[in-house]
Amino acid sequence: MGYTAEDEALIREKWDDLLRSCTKICKNDEDWNFIKRAFFLAKEAHEGVRRRSGEPYLLHPIAVAKIVIDEIGLGVKSVVAALLHDVVEDTEYTVEDMERIFGAKIASMVDGLTKMSGVFNADTSEQAEYFRKVLLTLSDDVRVILIKIADRLHNMRTLGSMPLNKQIKITGETIYLFAPLAYRLGLYSIKSELEDLCMKYRFPQQYAEITQKLQESEATRREFIDKFNAPIIEALNRDHINYEISGRVKSVYSIWSKMQRKQIPFEEIYDLFAIRIVFKPLPFPSEKTQCWSIYSTITDIYTPKPDRLRDWISMPKANGYEALHSTVMGPDGVWVEVQIRTQRMEDIAERGFAAHWKYKHATISQDEDEFDKWLKQIRAALNSPTENAVDFLDNFKLSLYTSEIVVFTPKGESRKLPFGATALDFAYDIHSKIGNSAISAKINHKLEPVTTQINSGDQIEIITADNARPKPEWLETVITAKAKQAIKNFLKRERQNNIERGMQLLDEKMKSLNIKLSGRVLRKIVPLYDSNNKEEFYSKIGAGIISLDNLEKALKTNSKSKILKFWTLFIPKKQEEEIDEGADSTELPDKVDPAVEPQFEIAECCKPIPGDKVVGYRDPATGNIIVHKAACDELNRLAAQYGKNIVKEEIKWSQHKAMSYLVSVKLRGIDRMGLLLDLAKVVSGDFSINIREINIHSHDGIFEGDISLYVKDAEGLQAVMDKLRKIKGIERVKRNMN
Ligand code: MN
Repeated sequence: MGYTAEDEALIREKWDDLLRSCTKICKNDEDWNFIKRAFFLAKEAHEGVRRRSGEPYLLHPIAVAKIVIDEIGLGVKSVVAALLHDVVEDTEYTVEDMERIFGAKIASMVDGLTKMSGVFNADTSEQAEYFRKVLLTLSDDVRVILIKIADRLHNMRTLGSMPLNKQIKITGETIYLFAPLAYRLGLYSIKSELEDLCMKYRFPQQYAEITQKLQESEATRREFIDKFNAPIIEALNRDHINYEISGRVKSVYSIWSKMQRKQIPFEEIYDLFAIRIVFKPLPFPSEKTQCWSIYSTITDIYTPKPDRLRDWISMPKANGYEALHSTVMGPDGVWVEVQIRTQRMEDIAERGFAAHWKYKHATISQDEDEFDKWLKQIRAALNSPTENAVDFLDNFKLSLYTSEIVVFTPKGESRKLPFGATALDFAYDIHSKIGNSAISAKINHKLEPVTTQINSGDQIEIITADNARPKPEWLETVITAKAKQAIKNFLKRERQNNIERGMQLLDEKMKSLNIKLSGRVLRKIVPLYDSNNKEEFYSKIGAGIISLDNLEKALKTNSKSKILKFWTLFIPKKQEEEIDEGADSTELPDKVDPAVEPQFEIAECCKPIPGDKVVGYRDPATGNIIVHKAACDELNRLAAQYGKNIVKEEIKWSQHKAMSYLVSVKLRGIDRMGLLLDLAKVVSGDFSINIREINIHSHDGIFEGDISLYVKDAEGLQAVMDKLRKIKGIERVKRNMN
């Protein structure tokens, strides 16, 4: 069972490597001994165990500890916790043992890193509960989250040996939660690596294509950057500034996201790289003044684009990011982004929280600490008691990834809100009582609906009324977690009253019809009334939305199944053997009876068509397999929260049946004579495609249109779209998502 001499040598090598990194953080013998004790305990505890890849398990905690030092910049306690992070989860050791051996602090950190044990009832998402638990640790020790991110980063780096369903679950969690979290904590390079790794596993072909195109264009880019930098270098040298200048290429994932978002090819992405100037400031004048002075030097050389100036020094991002960004007109008529920052700002941007902490204690100039503010907000959100774990995760996610606006109260006090916030978000930001009783808003002294989106610089006054109450539609307009939560809490209380009333009304009605209200009867009628579950059904009755007058008739009709029986999806018959690795062993096994042919449903959110790469998700309520596009955001959300429901097998489209699917395509271009004719020729003439609808309008020489057509599969659609793109004047061809 033990390790071979070869394994031991490998462990030795990695451990020595970790020790070299530890010289950066260990100040005395006590520190060294602390780390060594943790190592020897971990070694003994994981003795003989291997990862799925076959390597000794111990290499994982060692690697995590190394990331914790080298890439996040944490200290001795964090390294100890990283070495021990899987010990309680996977071995005989308990949290109490940790406390006895390493003290209370380490024990509580390891506890935060241990998944929950115990029995879960089937309705709660075990995964979401686990994340909730991890995120709760934010409120007392951010280091636990940072170690968790290091753990995730190493698992992503070694994801290749996992089976497909695990890869989807893990990448789903990563893209949904861990990458935004890393971003929010200021760990930019880890965030980018996590995203790139997700893409590499989920979309290997696209990943390889973009990587190759980046390599091919490398030499030309280098040449351009040198040409662009030359006069800047000369000027900065003349001014005796101690600086470094570099060209930063965008990550593969962010290039791909932009291609998706804008539906443009690689060649049309103009901001593939940015120029970064990092300098060591003089003690005087302020860092800010010195940054602006460099800005001034650069804009003496190149003309800036006025609307692309970003000053994150006067007003740092919520994750602590500071820099001056400007886009200038470079040689050959190309816009180039230039980032100007000091070494301190660079450290914070690269290493996030830990670096932030270091400087915070070293300087006193920081009067406003954005990071602390965010943590305070998280703590407040975590204190909301009733929220279930899945809602919690969704809300938490909202507080990640946001750019910000600054608005003012009537008294001139400034408040930061995420971009896209409405007057309602502002109202709830001040107090939930104000939000709950808001009826309208005065934005810059002008009366507006309370759902109006607000902009940076607006001054807002909320008008309230005692008898006002939140409306369910508000949930669609507000974007902050705080507002969502307060509205939900209010509606929940109200809904509970409606449910009770609805149950009573249904009970009376059934008694009058002389029918016994069984589970079977309920399952039949609930969908007939357009309700997803019985709670919704009851509450709609209670609120008077559903009338029970025609209940008797409804009970007699046959419930219409939404399942497409003639579907052409199948799962190739191949039983893969599944060995669960310790680190991921808390999931339940897939409960699928291979004898039963699965029913497929097409996901409403992304509506895949044959040929699209798809992933199956087993709906726990019906047992049906819901088929999502592999790139669907909703799928990532589900994978992050209910990963065990991701279908293990790859789902394939069968090519036998000649069915057609309705898709909608958006066109945009420059209007000209005969364009419409060319269009009609392509769509009907060349492909014998069945058009259902064309809507076209042109204004100011711009032509815009939507075409609804029937296609057999994604390949057919691609062919039509390619043909459309070739029409003279057409600039954008995009598949509509709904
Ligand atoms: Mn681990």
